[in-house]
Amino acid sequence: MTSSADGRRKIQILPDHVANKIAAGEVIQRPDSAAKELLENALDAGATRITVTVKDGGVTYLQVADNGTGMDQDDAVASFLRHATSKISTYEDLEEIRTYGFRGEALASIAAVAQVTMKTRRAGDDAAVMVRIDGGGQPRVTREAREQGTTVTIQNLFFNVPARKKFLKSRATEFRHVYEAVHRVAISHPELELRFVNGDDTIFNLKPAALETRLSDVFGERLMESLIPVEERTEALSLSGYIGKPSFGQKTRTHQYLFLNGRFIVHRNISHAVFSSYENLLLKGTFPFFILFIEVDPRRVDVNVHPSKMEAKFDDEQGIYRMAGALVRKGLSGAQAFPVLSMDQGSPGSDVELQFSPRQHRWPSADSPWPPAPVDTATGEIFPPHESGGNGMAWSLLAPPGREEVPPRQGSVLTHQADRPEGDSHGLIWQLHNKYILCQIRSGLMIVDQHVAHERVLYERALERFKTGFQSAQQLLFPYTVQMTPGDYALVEELFRHFQMLGFDLALFGRNTLSIQGVPADVKAGSEERIVQEILGLYKEYQQQGMMDARDNLAKSFSCRSAIKAGDPLNEQEMRSLIDQLFATSMPYVCPHGRPIVLRISTEELDRRFGRL
Ligand code: ADP
Ligand code: MG
Repeated sequence: MTSSADGRRKIQILPDHVANKIAAGEVIQRPDSAAKELLENALDAGATRITVTVKDGGVTYLQVADNGTGMDQDDAVASFLRHATSKISTYEDLEEIRTYGFRGEALASIAAVAQVTMKTRRAGDDAAVMVRIDGGGQPRVTREAREQGTTVTIQNLFFNVPARKKFLKSRATEFRHVYEAVHRVAISHPELELRFVNGDDTIFNLKPAALETRLSDVFGERLMESLIPVEERTEALSLSGYIGKPSFGQKTRTHQYLFLNGRFIVHRNISHAVFSSYENLLLKGTFPFFILFIEVDPRRVDVNVHPSKMEAKFDDEQGIYRMAGALVRKGLSGAQAFPVLSMDQGSPGSDVELQFSPRQHRWPSADSPWPPAPVDTATGEIFPPHESGGNGMAWSLLAPPGREEVPPRQGSVLTHQADRPEGDSHGLIWQLHNKYILCQIRSGLMIVDQHVAHERVLYERALERFKTGFQSAQQLLFPYTVQMTPGDYALVEELFRHFQMLGFDLALFGRNTLSIQGVPADVKAGSEERIVQEILGLYKEYQQQGMMDARDNLAKSFSCRSAIKAGDPLNEQEMRSLIDQLFATSMPYVCPHGRPIVLRISTEELDRRFGRL
């Protein structure tokens, strides 16, 4: 009928119910988007108490009840019209938008693709009105009883759009998404009384609280132990919240929360800034946990870049990128970025991950198999302090070479002070199986993996040398002459300058012959030749894995190969020296490859375990 053959125009204006259905495709993708829109409407209406109720993951039933301003009958009916909004009236208003809604599309879209009722009452009115719309049809209005506020109930989402319904996932998955939407409001509005009900289960019933309490309420009591508070303010912008300690890395990006003036947004640049500031600190394959609140003058940001309003564009994208990165780096270099091991958690970063289940983020149960084996007191293998050992170990632990030349990292020694072993507690340091160093700290017990600890120390020392151009090799009395493969010889040629900066004094004799005439003091006497070979081997391996930065690669290869190994006995002085040097690094608890260096078990944890608490 739209063909031009019959003389009619080709272009027609779509009737509202069709337009709304199409718009619904952008605004309402699944139950969680409906939940988000209704929650935002309730917040915009000034609600202080909201209850969300779902059944079947929100697909058959999703209700949001608030105690906000409510509407009179005319507004209640009008609210379902497309582009009906009380929040802006001119385009200029959009520039200064302070409400969550402004597009006037949500209710119209929802009503086009579901059966919707709205019951609403203003403070002064003597009764509530109920408006009912089925799949974009005519509204039916009745009078009902209700206290001040608004309840919107959505039933059978997409009942008239089978194509969309088909794309819905399992009820459990849809529920999880709705949960996330409610959860985000819980995090960003701790002042709100918020109840969430799934069928017959109350998922949470949150009382107004301070942010920290609210976070503990929704993520579990232990969360705060794993977070570092951060804050940065400029005249134009404030950025604050919490970032996870690197040991609290998550397996997914689910727990990355960014709120712009209270609105949850997804912003690739900021997320990237945060993520890249964790460089070399996160365990492999893990992502940082963060909750960041950005407060900015609405005129400096555009939130109308996507119908779902989940994206935003800042007028100074670079500025916010830099600020977010700096904020995280500052947080991570502070004292609090230290991992705590709960015995229940297994290895940090892997199992510590928050788990999804209503009543949610309970930490793994006390039945987990930790501690592993009981201590064999008969053989006395574990606890007696190490007496022997350490022969020949003194090469670098006791006298960190180049101390004078390499400026100590700013403030790092001091900032980690709180977690350092107690200096006066003589003898309270042990080596376990020539592999781990156990020491008493104020809050309990600290366990250090000696190899990765030394690796971190050497890695930072290497980077420092690259930066300062430090070069002073420990000259060998009897230089080694090494016959190399042409490939390795070429590699040494290529890296010659870098080797030099690290403190290697090498001479290229041609014909694939290399002479090692001096090495950094970190290299154990007698292992010079082996270590140069191993560094080259590892360097190539890293290169194959895609590590492009030659210096970083060399620093990593060098530190890995020159560090003391598991199995090397250390005497007490060496252990103390290693710990001292470790805590003088910028990041004492994750090795350059992302393995943990330090674990801490609090006395409380032990007390709990032994039934003292
Ligand atoms: P928008 O939020 O973009 O204005 P909506 O379609 O979400 O558009 O809502 C349309 C209008 O209905 C809102 O502008 C508001 O005036 C009114 N409204 C919607 N939900 C509520 C509520 N829970 N309480 C009071 N007013 C509401
Ligand atoms: Mg809205």
